[in-house]
Amino acid sequence: MTETKEKASVNATESSITGRMSTFDHEQLVFCQDKETGLRSIIAIHNTVLGPAVGGTRMWAYANEEEALTDVLRLSRGMTYKNALAGLNIGGGKAVIIGDARKDKSEALMRRFGKFVNSVGGKYITAEDVGISTRDMEYVRLETKNVVGLPEYLGGSGDPSPVTAFGVYMGMKASNKEVTGSDSLSGKKVLVQGVGHVGEYLVEHLVKENAEVTIADIYDDRVKAVVSKFGVKAVPVNEVYDQEMDIYSPCALGATVNDDTLNKLKCTIICGAANNQLKDEKVHGVEVLKRGILYAPDYLVNAGGIINCYWEIVGYNRQAALSQAEGIYETALQIFRKSSTENIPTYLAANQMAEARIASIGKIKLSY
Ligand code: NAD
Repeated sequence: MTETKEKASVNATESSITGRMSTFDHEQLVFCQDKETGLRSIIAIHNTVLGPAVGGTRMWAYANEEEALTDVLRLSRGMTYKNALAGLNIGGGKAVIIGDARKDKSEALMRRFGKFVNSVGGKYITAEDVGISTRDMEYVRLETKNVVGLPEYLGGSGDPSPVTAFGVYMGMKASNKEVTGSDSLSGKKVLVQGVGHVGEYLVEHLVKENAEVTIADIYDDRVKAVVSKFGVKAVPVNEVYDQEMDIYSPCALGATVNDDTLNKLKCTIICGAANNQLKDEKVHGVEVLKRGILYAPDYLVNAGGIINCYWEIVGYNRQAALSQAEGIYETALQIFRKSSTENIPTYLAANQMAEARIASIGKIKLSY
């Protein structure tokens, strides 16, 4: 090979697939297709330094393959950070299936997908994510053992939401400790946005501790159920950001911390279960710091779900999962300390701590 050709192949451009993989050091991409079932899927293994790559499968009607590839690269990398920061001995991965989950899914398609998961030989372990149900995972399980988050009747750990909610609650207590010097949430005004699986369990913890809880949800039946069970206050969804509150807890959607909401939000802490709460972490992560709002990194405080799955891999024990989720309290305090000592946003402190753990065990490209 001539020198020029050699250079060209080594310095793959960022638009080539290996070039894009090298941007954040993805280890392996598996493109899967099956004509008969219409399956088109990508499995992304980002980093296996700490252990097999674990992360859910998302089924989404991506506009094109490029959009699916971008998503799976981003999500799998996110799992590496999340798993590392939670102290788990697993790496980061994710899979996407291109298609409309309401129209394009079938038993055969999920089983074909399961065969592809199996083909990577345990290097990737899958779970449920957006567009994928427990039933779908049962089909995947017929083809591979490398699935977690299964229902209890299949030997799995069942619904992870109680563990996720407990972790968020621990993160909230640590946040309050950082801001007020006390971790008691008694009398604190907490607004929980979204009272689905996680939100409802979180409200239960908060009410037990005598916090002043307000809830909002787009579904009236959810609001009514939680109000009547716990006697909390409810507000319409479009009035959430106008409320007086100490703690804003997003437990529904991502990107709710943005230019518009930050101009309205009157809180000292943001701590909730939703993924990707900062619309743009580099912009809004800095903005919350400037405004004196403590942001508890979402991927730390909502790690209870993956902690629960992790224990399914090593031998399920609910108590062990809960006690590891309790550790979110200490990790959050370490992040807050690093953030204030180095005057950096909390999201960045969290990312650096995750990278440092992986770097201490193996190799990761430091990106910050
Ligand atoms: P869920 O679907 O059970 O609950 C979400 C709730 O939010 C629903 O009741 C929905 O009606 C409500 N909602 C949707 N849009 C809203 C809006 N604009 N305003 C107010 N409410 C709205 O989901 P979940 O399992 O409780 O998860 C909540 C969030 O936490 C999600 O972002 C999820 O990705 C994340 N998360 C969940 C887990 C878990 O263990 N379930 C783990 C990690 C992260």
